[in-house]
Amino acid sequence: MEEKQKVTMDKIVNLCKNRGFIFPGSDIYGGMGNTWDYGPIGVELKNNIKRAWWKRFVQESPNTYGVDAAILMNPKVWDASGHTQNFSDPKMDCKSCKERFRADNLIEEHSHGNVSAEGMTNEQMEKYIADNKVKCPHCGNFNWTPIRQFKLMFETSRGTVDGEKDIVYLRPETCQGEYVNFLNVQRSMRAKVPFAIAQIGKSFRNEITPGNFIFRTIEFEQMELQMFCREENSFEAYENYKKQAQQFLLDLNICPEHLKFHDHEKLAFYAKAACDIFYLFPMGWNELNGIHHRSTHDLSRHQEFSGKSMAYLDPVTNEKFIPTVVEYSIGADRLVLAILCEAYDEETLEGGDTRVVMHFHPALAPFKVAILPLQKNLSEKAREVYALLSKQFMCEYDEAGSIGKRYRREDEIGTPYCVTVDFDSLEDDTVTVRDRDSMKQERVKIDDLTDYIAKRITF
Ligand code: ATP
Repeated sequence: MEEKQKVTMDKIVNLCKNRGFIFPGSDIYGGMGNTWDYGPIGVELKNNIKRAWWKRFVQESPNTYGVDAAILMNPKVWDASGHTQNFSDPKMDCKSCKERFRADNLIEEHSHGNVSAEGMTNEQMEKYIADNKVKCPHCGNFNWTPIRQFKLMFETSRGTVDGEKDIVYLRPETCQGEYVNFLNVQRSMRAKVPFAIAQIGKSFRNEITPGNFIFRTIEFEQMELQMFCREENSFEAYENYKKQAQQFLLDLNICPEHLKFHDHEKLAFYAKAACDIFYLFPMGWNELNGIHHRSTHDLSRHQEFSGKSMAYLDPVTNEKFIPTVVEYSIGADRLVLAILCEAYDEETLEGGDTRVVMHFHPALAPFKVAILPLQKNLSEKAREVYALLSKQFMCEYDEAGSIGKRYRREDEIGTPYCVTVDFDSLEDDTVTVRDRDSMKQERVKIDDLTDYIAKRITF
């Protein structure tokens, strides 16, 4: 039996919809398969996750430079990267129920992971499915179409005159923006190899089997960096990023038992090493991020297809060479999902009450602090506190309902501190601060509040 998370996906999806984290895309039109919109609480969580990643991997990483490249790129980029020729998956349709599947997934699921379809030809996969009478996981029939290659790149077109349109692609990965800018960044920043270029941005893949909420979607955001180094230092860089990638997740309070490394069984012909970090999602262990040793493949291909030299000139040795690339890439939305699953808790309180609480790392919490006047006639003072704190932090102001109910609402969206303004506050300029996790309360001077909160929410 595969291990499972305690929390179910249904609970996460419901909480997300009801509490303003994530809504189904185009909801009033019945949705649009596997698109999701981040709501007011979710956008804060996701932005905080992206900020934490950027802080760790750009701000605090010497020799790492950020970029924000265009989503639409010259189509030759995708010829050079191999996507126009090879970026497709083997799909089979069930003729009985019309559900669509990836042939390799059917084989791996049927054999409970004992048979890997990596490296099988379409004929070999069809033969395995026929020999083993692999049935449709949806309706149980054995009634398949032959395998067809399903293109994963979204096409669109540009051009102003009807009939004279050129196909362009929505990028299926962000890293090509770093490769094509390798020399621009190197020259403008006077960067010396080894150095890395990092980016956070949207990618688009026409996935055959999207699903599991925001785990696999057709539009998603990647946070990734490409380290350009000498071949002889590349394995050290690879091991280093494995450690850093893991440490980042642990520092976000992901429990070590929910993470594991998974080495790729079969490597792309150019790759020298590749591994993923898996997270224990509610549906089982699955990829959260990847670390790949990509040799000199990417820059060599761009040199070949663009006709421009991609070589780096070492200013000390005068040696000219094409750097080796080590890639570290993590899906922002997959990390949002992992963080939501990890933070979710249902606690029984003294007296038998239960509360749902999201134990986010305070740096990731959508709101850092909620300001709650004990009674409505304290709102003037409470508004002053809100005005003070909202200069520094995302704050919520809530004066509706009993204080207990208001605490529960903040627990559900993971607000680490609730500040209660009461009648004593009018006399002595102090407030009560309640800690989300311990539920302990302490009296703090209004003048000290900003520092009190700031030092507890750093990452
Ligand atoms: P998978 O095997 O899950 O399809 P991949 O190996 O193709 O992923 P990469 O191309 O290495 O993924 O992309 C890097 C990261 O981007 C992944 O580790 C994942 O976190 C994220 N990612 C990839 N595809 C999707 C998707 N369709 N939806 C959401 N996130 C994705």
